[in-house]
Amino acid sequence: MLSEMEPGAPARSGEVPLCIPFMGGNELEYVTECIRTNFVSSVGPFVTRFERMVADYVGADYAIATVNGTAALHLSLLVAGVGPGDEVVMPSLTFIAPANAVRYAGARPVFLDCERDYWQLDVDAVEVFLRERCVRRGGRVENKTTGMRIAALLPVHILGHPVEMERLGQLAAEFALPVIEDATESLGARCHGKMAGTIGDIGCFSFNGNKLITTGAGGMIVTSRMDLADRARYLSTQAKDDALEYVHHAVGYNHRLSNVLAALGCAQMERIGEHIASKLATAEHYRRALEGVPGVTTMKAASWAESVHWLFTMLIDTDTFGMDSRALMRALRSRGIHTRPLWQPLHQSPAHADSPHEPCPVAERLKREALSLPSSVGITETELRLVTDAIGSLARVPA
Ligand SMILES: *Cc1c(COP(=O)(O)O)cnc(C)c1O
Repeated sequence: MLSEMEPGAPARSGEVPLCIPFMGGNELEYVTECIRTNFVSSVGPFVTRFERMVADYVGADYAIATVNGTAALHLSLLVAGVGPGDEVVMPSLTFIAPANAVRYAGARPVFLDCERDYWQLDVDAVEVFLRERCVRRGGRVENKTTGMRIAALLPVHILGHPVEMERLGQLAAEFALPVIEDATESLGARCHGKMAGTIGDIGCFSFNGNKLITTGAGGMIVTSRMDLADRARYLSTQAKDDALEYVHHAVGYNHRLSNVLAALGCAQMERIGEHIASKLATAEHYRRALEGVPGVTTMKAASWAESVHWLFTMLIDTDTFGMDSRALMRALRSRGIHTRPLWQPLHQSPAHADSPHEPCPVAERLKREALSLPSSVGITETELRLVTDAIGSLARVPA
């Protein structure tokens, strides 16, 4: 049982939840069709249709549906050639799943800081790390400190905003490193006009309950490289070489999405435009309403980015606002408004204590100051006003 104060605890009626699913289209009809036709397992027309819809939407040639976003990341790392003893460059400030996926592949993450404007992986830090902390030896890029091979770059587009992929891509090309994009929080976001998830070699999405579209649990790999797509699909279905005689040439995984959940995904994808429009309107409200509140800084989007504002986040300056982000979180919760801080930076996570990292002062500051605000698709004007009026009333009145 979740305690009532826990972030995952469901909101009671009358409360404003942080980020819950929105079922506004053909979800019930499509799920009913699965049950009526008995296609409830991983075989069935909705899986293929869902893959096609996501591939077409983002403009990738191939898509492979998986049981969740973490499984998508795990398979992507494997097909990109990440293996035991390798290191993978990624941001410290992210949900833990991509770092865990690196470990499942037998590799270790290297945690770098985020930039201060949009809070994404700092490409300058990646450049400094590759140029100064690594050495090229016999076609490999080696971490000078650990002696391990750098096997891939794993940018994470957090909170709906893309990483600056153009420069990251140039570095990846220069150092001959594959790029795996964790776009789980940023389906529909663009960087210099290109869709997040399609800029690197392979991209991952999640359809967890709090994401932009949801299948309850689910994920997707997208790529335009046939070799990577084929290998990912093969590994996601137990690496079957002769399905009739049960012959397998590799240790595969049971990572395939079921038809019932893909049915939900199709219905959600049909309305992705409405989902994004709701997020953008929410961001617009928060920006406008919180602009003049002393001590509040709201999430920005870069001129080269189209953010989908998955989870609207603000920073609280303790002295100016009159209380810190955690005190504000508790005060809002007592008014029935659910907010939460960002993730513990992974270079400070006990789960990844033995992974290398560079100093990450920006991530540490964001951990202290950031608070994510209610951002469900379909949140009402009344609810948004309740949130921003409460924040305004709690701020210190300027002297
Ligand atoms: C949600 C999320 C994931 C993982 O998705 P699941 O579907 O929950 O496994 C991975 N990375 C980030 C940054 C996420 O926010």
